[in-house]
Amino acid sequence: MRAKLVAANWKMNGSFSLLDKMLDVFKSNLRNTSCQVVICPPHVLLSSLKNAVEGTKIEVGAQNVHSELSGAFTGETSAPLLKECGVMWCIVGHSERRMIFNESDEFIRSKTATLLKNGIRPILCVGESLEQRDSGKHEESVVAQLRKILTGFNAEDQSRFVVAYEPIWAIGTGKTATPEQANTMHSIIRKELQSLGTHEVAANTQILYGGSVNVENAKALLSQSEIDGALVGGASLKKDEFYQIVAAAT
Ligand code: PEP
Repeated sequence: MRAKLVAANWKMNGSFSLLDKMLDVFKSNLRNTSCQVVICPPHVLLSSLKNAVEGTKIEVGAQNVHSELSGAFTGETSAPLLKECGVMWCIVGHSERRMIFNESDEFIRSKTATLLKNGIRPILCVGESLEQRDSGKHEESVVAQLRKILTGFNAEDQSRFVVAYEPIWAIGTGKTATPEQANTMHSIIRKELQSLGTHEVAANTQILYGGSVNVENAKALLSQSEIDGALVGGASLKKDEFYQIVAAAT
C-alpha cells in the first residue's frame, strides 16, 4: 500500500512570514495524518523550515540542486549543503527549469544521481506539452523522458524516487488533467518503471499528479487508484487551501 504524499512547490514565492503562518495551520491540525507532507520553499527559507518542522510530520524539500558537489557555479546550491539544511527531497526535471533554464534530460539525470549519492530523494517531474497531447504523442514523450533520465539506475536507487506527472499545459494554467487522463498516464509511467527496474519497486513507487491541483479537484484526483499524491504549485501558497488538499489525501 503506497502512502499518499503531497508536496508544495512554492517556486519563487513565499516569505518567512508565510512559512510561519503555514506551519501554524499544520502544527495545530496535522496530528494523525497518514499523508506525507513536503514543503519546497525557496532555498533561503530551508534552514528556517527545518527548525520549524522539527517534531512534526512535515519534511523539507528543495526546488533545485546542481549536479556538481562544489565549484564555480555562481548562484547554484550543492546537494551536500542542501543536506546540511535538512533537505530530504528535491524536485528535478520541473518543466519551468527545462523551458526557462534549458535543462536537458542529461543534466536532470546527473542531478538525480547526485541527489541519490547524497541521500536526498528526487521528485522527478515528467510531462507532455499541449502540442504533444493534441497530436497523440503524450504517452511516448513521457516514456522517453523517463528512459533518458532513469535508465541505468539500480533497483535501490529507483526505490528512492518519486515521480510527478505534470502535463505542461496544466501547470499554473487553471486547466487540470481529468482524473481519468491522469490515472491513465500514471499507469503508463508505472509500467515503464517496471521495465526500467523491478516490478516490486515500481509497485511501491509513489506517482504524484501536478498541474493546477486545488481544493475543488483534489479529492477526485487523489481518489484514483494510480494517483499517490500531488505536487502543488499555486494552491500551496494559500495556507488553508494547501491544508485542505493534504486533508483530501488523508
Ligand atoms: C508545479 O509548479 O509543479 C505546479 C503543479 O504548479 P500549479 O499547481 O500552480 O499548476
